[in-house]
Amino acid sequence: MQTNWRLPLVDDQKRPKPPDVDRAAASRAAVAARRARAAVKKQIATGQRTPLDVLDTARQDRESVEARMRVTEFLLSIPAIGEKKMTGLMHHLNMSPSKRLGGLGRHQTENLRNVLRERASHSGVRGRRHNRLFVLAGPTAVGKGTVSTHIRENYPDVFLSVSATTRAPRPGETDGINYIFVSDAEFDRMVTEGELLESATVHNAYRYGTPRSPIDSALAAGRKVLLEIDIQGARSVRQVMPDTRLIFLLPPSWDELVRRLIGRGTEDDAEQQRRLETAKAELAAQDEFDFKVINTDVAEAAQEVVDLMDARTAVPGP
Ligand code: 5GP
Repeated sequence: MQTNWRLPLVDDQKRPKPPDVDRAAASRAAVAARRARAAVKKQIATGQRTPLDVLDTARQDRESVEARMRVTEFLLSIPAIGEKKMTGLMHHLNMSPSKRLGGLGRHQTENLRNVLRERASHSGVRGRRHNRLFVLAGPTAVGKGTVSTHIRENYPDVFLSVSATTRAPRPGETDGINYIFVSDAEFDRMVTEGELLESATVHNAYRYGTPRSPIDSALAAGRKVLLEIDIQGARSVRQVMPDTRLIFLLPPSWDELVRRLIGRGTEDDAEQQRRLETAKAELAAQDEFDFKVINTDVAEAAQEVVDLMDARTAVPGP
């Protein structure tokens, strides 16, 4: 296994040789490409960029420097991964040493991503970073949307994730701000391509999902990130990123919740009934959450959520 890493790389062998006249230019280009890859490796080694961020860039732009990096050199640039660990990881990932980040399939990318997350979590780096990730959930119509809109408009240092959904926009909603409104086919594509951190069918009707790469980038940039999603979504995110903190938004009372649900008037009777049933089941999940905030006044509830995101208590450990 180990000797394989020393073999000439298949990618390079397959590449056609340039005509003589182009050789000098090609060799200059090769040197420039090597330098660019070295710069990315240095960014990873010095902690300026996370390996996950580099992997995401490689996936989004197959022509990028990141995409041209071999998985082997990528892994070796990560502090605490030496030749031996890299070899073991490549074996575990069942990847050929000639693989480049941009040439990975969906499953290979997913497996590599999981390995990186796992390592970061053990090194403690992830603990700090992912403690910046918060989920705001709660029963339907409790006012999660209003509270998160208030946070978006008044607390610019909080990065609020914009979900994709297959439902149609409501009056006043803007594509790209409230949601990314997509067709069923586009949602399918996002799931297949692994672009969503989690996705769920909500109220047995439409599909909703959290785009992964804006969150990875915001966390890598050291920002606080808030997801306003449903309870199934909260559970899924915590499964993938166990250090995520979950905040449950509660109504002042059940009667008030019913009043808010009926008062919104955007759903027909059958839909309202369905949402009330969902709300009851959702309220029962509150003890799974780390924090509870009662939404009596929107500005106060928003302030409380932001305070929780800033609080030292949200960051376990020394
Ligand atoms: P609405 O259609 O009323 O905007 O949202 C319906 C429900 O979907 C809300 O409970 C909201 O929190 C949830 N939701 C919005 N975005 C997402 C998402 O990306 N993932 C999940 N799991 N739920 C979401």
